[in-house]
Amino acid sequence: MDAGAVVQAVLFLAVLGVFLGFFIRRAWYLGSLVRVGRASAGRMDAVPVRATREVTGVLFQSKLFLRPIPGVMHLLLFWGFLVLLPTIVMSFLGAMSPHWTIPWLAEQGWFALLVDLFAIGTLIGVGIAFAIRLGQRPVRFVGSYLQIAYNILLFESSIVITLFIWHGARIALGINEAPTAWTPVSTWVGGLMTGLPGLELIERASVWIHAVLILSFLVYIPYTKHLHTLVAPINVYFGRTRSRGRLEPLEFDNPDVPEDQIRFGAGTIKDLTWKQMVDGMACTECGRCQDACPAFFTGKDLSPKLVVMGIRDQLYREGHGLLASLKPVPAGQTAPAFEGVPLVPNAVKDETAWDCVTCGACVRECPVGIEHIDHIIDLRRNLVMVESRFPAAGAQMLRDLERTSNPWGGGPDERVDWTAGLDVRVLEPGDPAPAVLFWVGCAPAYDERARVGARSTAKLLKEAGVDFAILGARECCTGDPARRLGDEYTFQALAKQNVETFGQNGITKIVTTCPHCFNTLANEYQDFGGKYEVLHHTELLAELVAQGKLRPQVSDEGITYHDSCYLARHNDVREAPRTIVSAVGKRLEMARREERTFCCGAGGAHMWLEERANQINEERAREAVATGATTLAVACPFCTVMLDDGMQAVSGGLAVKDVATLLVEAVERGQERPPAAAAVPSGVAVKDPPDSGQGGSTGS
Ligand code: SF4
Ligand code: SF4
Repeated sequence: MDAGAVVQAVLFLAVLGVFLGFFIRRAWYLGSLVRVGRASAGRMDAVPVRATREVTGVLFQSKLFLRPIPGVMHLLLFWGFLVLLPTIVMSFLGAMSPHWTIPWLAEQGWFALLVDLFAIGTLIGVGIAFAIRLGQRPVRFVGSYLQIAYNILLFESSIVITLFIWHGARIALGINEAPTAWTPVSTWVGGLMTGLPGLELIERASVWIHAVLILSFLVYIPYTKHLHTLVAPINVYFGRTRSRGRLEPLEFDNPDVPEDQIRFGAGTIKDLTWKQMVDGMACTECGRCQDACPAFFTGKDLSPKLVVMGIRDQLYREGHGLLASLKPVPAGQTAPAFEGVPLVPNAVKDETAWDCVTCGACVRECPVGIEHIDHIIDLRRNLVMVESRFPAAGAQMLRDLERTSNPWGGGPDERVDWTAGLDVRVLEPGDPAPAVLFWVGCAPAYDERARVGARSTAKLLKEAGVDFAILGARECCTGDPARRLGDEYTFQALAKQNVETFGQNGITKIVTTCPHCFNTLANEYQDFGGKYEVLHHTELLAELVAQGKLRPQVSDEGITYHDSCYLARHNDVREAPRTIVSAVGKRLEMARREERTFCCGAGGAHMWLEERANQINEERAREAVATGATTLAVACPFCTVMLDDGMQAVSGGLAVKDVATLLVEAVERGQERPPAAAAVPSGVAVKDPPDSGQGGSTGS
């Protein structure tokens, strides 16, 4: 090896060492933060499910293809990065000597062709990304650090351009390893360079610039949102595998958790779980969550993206102080105390923390597995249980819950008022369990409009000969509103009480009309020893129709169905209510539906937090009207009330009816007509999507 090559090799190794040193220092800092994060349960189960997610979500970027153009852009950049990885090593070797490379691979025509194609693909991807940000300017990028995004795109394009110049110079010099017939783009660049003076120098300069750009980018990555390229696969892998609607319980009574380790939500960064920290590091600032958020869409303060970014930025700002406070110190010395700034209102404003309806649209859309609801509920938990800070309406609801075990403040004896004239059996302690317990829920028990759905369900169960009973005055609120408001104490007390009541009657199977109760009973009571088979009433009723125990008469009434978030998105119940709607009328679909439904505005305790006319319900009411239907079918008592209110505020408002009520009407029609005509499902018509900016638009 000549002296020049030795100098270049030594110089490059020194440069490499400096850049790697900066990268490792930052990576060590971020890793140290994650190591001191609080425990996060349920992250190691279901390995096959997690592995499948890695393939579909990371390798094939399935969620990104919900928007085709950005999906193609990401795929080009991601696969470009993967295919070009060996060229990074080649350039490092090439910077030390023009004759050093990866043996064998560098001579393969197929690999050289892939490099050319994917390098061009990367440039196209960068072009699309610039066009979206500078030309289309979608609202989802509001609040993102756009200049950093531009810097990243400039880095990526410069790296690819210098790669082509380097390869072209080698071809012009005749020192390329791969056959030129396989490298159309590089050969074309080489042709442009042939005959240029100082080609050797150009070859040296281009590979050095290329390699230093890569190293600079490597150092830049962990300081920016581009960290997601390294962290997103980890975050996707450790995402929850259990129901999306379930919240992780706080462990007040677990003897294995020392008292000083009990979490009361998140007050400062030292309360964040390691998963919440990784969530922040994985965020790409793409704004897909913000775009889907009904609160943001209707002009509220909340943006789930800005919540995640705000918490992450505060973690980065205060992380050094947190780590210093946890460092072991010599005997006789004390570590500096960590004086963390409260996350609310510094990272997230007070009002923002209360705006969330826990609909899960953000979690559903996020391509990197971020769990926004966990962040927001943890902020609320700390505000409620540590700071005693909550909206006045929420405080009233919690007082009512404490006083009467229901958020309406109604007396326990009034719980059975809705059954008037229906002859519904009420279980006493010790009575044998019915085939199915009808869990009524507080809304149907105390709200005039919500009770219609419960009455219809009871009528249908009786009509079909189902052995059912209710708990009557012994039924308490499931605790869902308290839990979603952040009052985990009250929730856990109610959960334990209800589990005990179920035990008194040996209950194993439950049906309910309320998706919030459904979610809590099916997914959350297991954490308190209550394991039941829980059905939503639409599932049981659809089964009874299929068995011929209910015989509806279809009509030509246009009916559009609103998916409740806690049913369709959090718990995957989407087909049963549609089966019933198709059996009673002509089903017309809204653009935002099924897993990508739009909230009614009541979740997350919002039924009590604000005025009912909260724009979310009005927006949804307008979408329903736009289908041309005459009736809006719902499968949730909260949706019944919220959307009925929404209909009052829009022109041409539809009648809002629970699916069970529509089924009662159809069964009664069937009883009036010859049975042969009963139960003929109509076709399904899908309304053209309104220009909502959501729901699979290709626009951004
Ligand atoms: S859960 Fe729904 S309301 Fe809450 S931040 Fe996510 S999208 Fe917005
Ligand atoms: S949280 Fe997820 S969807 Fe929202 S901006 Fe970050 S990466 Fe995008």
